[in-house]
Amino acid sequence: MEIHELSIQGIRQALVSGQYSSHEITGALLQRIAEENPRLNAFVTVTGELALAQAKVADSRRARGEQGPLLGVPVAHKDIFCTRGVRTTCASRMLENFVAPYDATVIRRLQESGMVMLGKLNMDEFAMGSSNETSHFGPVRNPWNPARVPGGSSGGSASALAARLVPAATGTDTGGSIRQPAAFCGVTGLKPTYGRVSRYGMIAFASSLDQGGPMARSAEDCALLMDAMAAHDPLDSTSHAQADGQFYAGLDRSLEGLRVGVPEEFFGEGLDPQVAEAVQSAIRQFEKMGARIRKVHLPNNVHAVSTYYVLAPAEASSNLARFDGVRYTRRASCPRDLTDLYTRSRYEGFGPEVRRRILVGTYVLSAGYYDAYYLQAQKVRSLIREDFRRAFAEVDVIVGPATPTTAFALGDKSNDPVAMYLADIYTIAVNLAGIPAISLPCGFDRSGMPVGMQIMGNYFADEQLLAIAHQYQLQTGWHLRSPGQQGRG
Ligand code: GLN
Repeated sequence: MEIHELSIQGIRQALVSGQYSSHEITGALLQRIAEENPRLNAFVTVTGELALAQAKVADSRRARGEQGPLLGVPVAHKDIFCTRGVRTTCASRMLENFVAPYDATVIRRLQESGMVMLGKLNMDEFAMGSSNETSHFGPVRNPWNPARVPGGSSGGSASALAARLVPAATGTDTGGSIRQPAAFCGVTGLKPTYGRVSRYGMIAFASSLDQGGPMARSAEDCALLMDAMAAHDPLDSTSHAQADGQFYAGLDRSLEGLRVGVPEEFFGEGLDPQVAEAVQSAIRQFEKMGARIRKVHLPNNVHAVSTYYVLAPAEASSNLARFDGVRYTRRASCPRDLTDLYTRSRYEGFGPEVRRRILVGTYVLSAGYYDAYYLQAQKVRSLIREDFRRAFAEVDVIVGPATPTTAFALGDKSNDPVAMYLADIYTIAVNLAGIPAISLPCGFDRSGMPVGMQIMGNYFADEQLLAIAHQYQLQTGWHLRSPGQQGRG
């Protein structure tokens, strides 16, 4: 097997056996990035020299007897995580030259576990989007078909994983941004329970919904990453006191007797029949493995998208107020006065989708409209949470499609924001409730594009979700296929 085909687990074995050094693996991946990235645009910044230096350090730590499972394994990060000394752009013109003075907690933890940083990955600007077309650095392409989008907002992460440029990546998920691109690119991604992964140093979009998480090519690899990522962090006031867990050690569980709920609301109008078919056959596979399937209802899911598009922009309008042209951001030249400095810096710095969110958010929070929109949306959010509480009284996990369709063509929805927002119809309720969910490949459509399913769990069921996905992946080979070898598998 070629180096770039190796999973995290495969790299770990190659490092332990001495087959390859981290320096060799890192060099091979940097070479592959140089060859393939111009076509995919998955990276905003490649940190080649730094990566080779970190790999050398990892190799000498291993030579001294250290054995951490991630020691010397390469990773790339969504460009929303602050990295000390390496620019963090959030794919915005506003932060084009921003270099953070500190590392995000996620970055620090993965670095301490010995991971080697290959660079920073493209994304939708400020994580607002579902297609990775809003990036200031241009769209990312889907390696399964370069005319299609990779999904968003963690599109660079998903594209780089699917194209075998990286074995591991970080992502963030506010309304589906880990799960939807994972589904579109045929990789595995976990949106953890809100509060399990620190938000410190992760540029804020909608703070009550944002959650960082792992993306990789299998649930097993995601579990290895979660072991390092999940931890209580005093620097994040919403970090949970018992955030850590036994993710990798907990992968070996039987599905015998597992109660799997299937929500009728996730199989209605708008769902591509080929996606429905692949997910239904995954559900039959769970049944074969001993699970008991039953119907559940999430009646308020129909309100999830509209609720989210009040709350997320409201929080964004407040979070993005800090980008004022005065301190670390882009500054308009020769301002007439302070107001002109603010106005022009923000107008020049933010792209159209970000501006739209700020306008909507400011509107729904304004006097006279606050009760009708923001307050009302908070109430509906409680109803959505209540839906899950009721469902999880009857079942252990809920399974459905991750997205209504497979990856769509570039440009297809870029002039229709509502059509774009509906790409997240199955992922958003999870964020509003704060529960965990995993997206993993479960088949392909007739045009050869991957289909993703989603498994949702109750609060702190992250370990259980990874275990179920891992057991499924032991029985099926969907996650092993890569672009260019569609016929095999
Ligand atoms: N696509 C959704 C949006 O545009 C979700 C993005 C995300 O999860 N960061 O807001």
